Amino acid sequence: MAESKYGQYIRTGLIKDIAHYTGHSLVAHDGELNVDCSIGYHCIAKPISFDFSHSHDFPELLFFIGGDPLDITELGADVEVCLGEEHEKHIIRGPCVVSIPAGMVHCPITIKNVVRPMVFLEISLSRIYPKPKDRVPPRTT
Ligand SMILES: [Zn+2]
Repeated sequence: MAESKYGQYIRTGLIKDIAHYTGHSLVAHDGELNVDCSIGYHCIAKPISFDFSHSHDFPELLFFIGGDPLDITELGADVEVCLGEEHEKHIIRGPCVVSIPAGMVHCPITIKNVVRPMVFLEISLSRIYPKPKDRVPPRTT
């Protein structure tokens, strides 16, 4: 194989199967991207709840996007997002990004009334996405 100057920047091997998501996910939580960012791209096709209320010392962006690539505006689910120490509840019914600053408490997040697959994309401005010791796995129904 010819020596490559830039091939190192193309990251592969990021597809993972995660039981509580639908189909395959694309995940880089452990420094695989070699930048100060970690990502998780997932498909959700059934109700799921992320109950573990937490915060990070880095910003996190949570994208909720319709799963039809020809029309991402139809979310096809109701997303309940709780923000802050007070767990202020927000109901999301269209595509959006929840931009969570460092230190802000978030979750539970509950996705229900799922009528079609949707995309859940999480981007954290941290090379490593730490897994808290006491985190409980998401619940699916
Ligand atoms: Zn988080």
